[in-house]
Amino acid sequence: MNQTNTKRILVIEDNENNLYLIRFLLESNNYAVLIAKDGKIGVEMARVEKPDLILMDIQLPVMDGYTATKLLKSDSATSFIPIIVLTSYVMPGDKKKAEESGCDSYIAKPIEPDQVLKDVKRFLDTPGSK
Ligand code: MN
Repeated sequence: MNQTNTKRILVIEDNENNLYLIRFLLESNNYAVLIAKDGKIGVEMARVEKPDLILMDIQLPVMDGYTATKLLKSDSATSFIPIIVLTSYVMPGDKKKAEESGCDSYIAKPIEPDQVLKDVKRFLDTPGSK
């Protein structure tokens, strides 16, 4: 793989076990991983780094994932970045809340590696989607 074609994924997640799993999963599939452990730092990193995709936890210190997603989607400097929300919430109301945040996709925890990879590839590996 050409280094310049390596897609960069910002993972905004505070749980170390999930971070370890997601990082391993993505790096094993030749994605570059950036990490933020609270919502505020995540938003700041997204603005500076302009990653190709964001994986966003909901329950985060300082700023929750819904708020961070809304901020990024309401700013033209970052609104084009696809955001996949990761949440342990299973109530229908919470799914609606996730959708209303403006996220592009939604994955329920516990994280299932194949499902995460499939959804990531849906956004990053589509032929001709440069
Ligand atoms: Mn969390």
